[in-house]
Amino acid sequence: MPKFEDSFLMQGKRKALVDLLKGKGITDKSVLEAIAKVPRHYFFSTTFQSHAYDDKAFPIGEGQTISQPFTVAYQTQLLELKRMDKVLEIGTGSGYQAIILAECGARVFTIERQKNLYDITKPFIADLGYEKIKCFYGDGYKGIPSYAPYDKIIITAAAPFIPEDLKAQLKIGGYLIVPLGEETSTMIRLTKLTEHDFKEERFAEFRFVPMLEGTKK
Ligand code: SAH
Repeated sequence: MPKFEDSFLMQGKRKALVDLLKGKGITDKSVLEAIAKVPRHYFFSTTFQSHAYDDKAFPIGEGQTISQPFTVAYQTQLLELKRMDKVLEIGTGSGYQAIILAECGARVFTIERQKNLYDITKPFIADLGYEKIKCFYGDGYKGIPSYAPYDKIIITAAAPFIPEDLKAQLKIGGYLIVPLGEETSTMIRLTKLTEHDFKEERFAEFRFVPMLEGTKK
């Protein structure tokens, strides 16, 4: 099967995945529609495409993973996206989460610390027709100050602490979603109340690859 070919089989599996996510408590219509639309098997090598709609994280090379569909849906739902929200994603990885954000109507800025992954994923995202997603190579701990402030920030790696630079790059009233803690992470949503005050909400526990300092060539 050619790599970029959708089929009734894959569409059926995608529909089943969406039903499973509904059963696990995902209710946001735009999130469910995005997951129903985006062919997750495009992000897999042909050998593993049959696993693309399992609700599991999967290795994508460079020791990294494409997040579990439930995790992607859960984090995206917590963002409560509005059309044209400016969103910064930390950890581009495969590009799947970035594309789900774009499908939910967000203007997406995404940053990856691994040069090899960035070099693969940036053109891949464009090839799938999402040229408007802006990809950056750099250290997510520093964010992308040149395009700040953001309505929403989503960190897709386990953070040992919440980076001050990212808090600073958030708009007042904006949300930052972060899996906090290295072994198991608690999903946290910060709301920026004033320039220096934040409200913190705690949600379920998840497992993520670690958010690492600096870049990797
Ligand atoms: N959002 C991705 C998930 C990838 S896993 C997806 O949908 O596929 C987490 C990613 O975060 C990895 O690619 C990892 O290299 C990246 N990462 C880890 N620490 C980072 C940092 N400090 N800055 C930017 N990216 C980082």
